Amino acid sequence: MAALIRNALTVDVEEYFQVAAFERTIIRDSWDTVESRVEFSCGRVLDLFDAQGVRGTFFVLGWIAERHPGLVRRIVKDGHELASHGYDHTRVHNFTPEQFRADVVRTKAVLEDIGGVQVRGYRAPSYSINAKNLWALDVLQETGHAYSSSIYPIRHDLYGMPDAPRFPFRFRPDGILEIPVTTVRMGGRNYPCGGGGYFRLLPYGAFRWMLARVNEQDRQSGLFYFHPWEVDPGQPRVKGAPLKSRFRHYLNLESMATRLERLLGDFSWGRMDDVFGA
Ligand SMILES: [Zn+2]
Repeated sequence: MAALIRNALTVDVEEYFQVAAFERTIIRDSWDTVESRVEFSCGRVLDLFDAQGVRGTFFVLGWIAERHPGLVRRIVKDGHELASHGYDHTRVHNFTPEQFRADVVRTKAVLEDIGGVQVRGYRAPSYSINAKNLWALDVLQETGHAYSSSIYPIRHDLYGMPDAPRFPFRFRPDGILEIPVTTVRMGGRNYPCGGGGYFRLLPYGAFRWMLARVNEQDRQSGLFYFHPWEVDPGQPRVKGAPLKSRFRHYLNLESMATRLERLLGDFSWGRMDDVFGA
């Protein structure tokens, strides 16, 4: 049954040092002096998708696109959907509405210039849209985005909006489509089953069971996300970051590619715009 429902495969394209966990250790101003790995790691992701014959959606930072235009062009050429992850991974709660508008307009223009395609999707860095800044969804709609994938309906120390709907919805009938990260509901609680660190933490079989449950019981498409740095065990180790951040970041990187291959083979996959008709 599960194979009949397609799930959306998504990649957040950023450097290993641009994650929120390392923001105090490798500051924004030093990014251009740090070893870049994104062409290697994202290239590995593209090879893997190519080998399995799957298409997905790549949410790319404007900062990355400007420095690696060839990578953006390959994403498009390989048949994937090009979408926006904001310019430099500033989380939405750190923006005023005006600053956020400038950020998403700039990123959309950069990506469209380089990729030569229309950018319709947006994902907030670290899922930083929640009950406190829903105005951001209006800004995305006003700036020509067709959908957002920026809300995580869970309780987590860094992000989340536990009471948000679990499947695609609009806050207003004429509002932008929000496609939340997938959760599985058990015992009255939402548990993450959309990727990220949980995918590397849990046994693969448990993860597969949860996503299958979403497809079979909820009869809904799921959404899976990961980052290129997760398939790059050779990335430089960032020293001085908090222990919890380092644990989450480096856990099971060696087995990630193998896990991904199993996941891609066990379910049916597609781009966000195809799977959700966005
Ligand atoms: Zn990100």
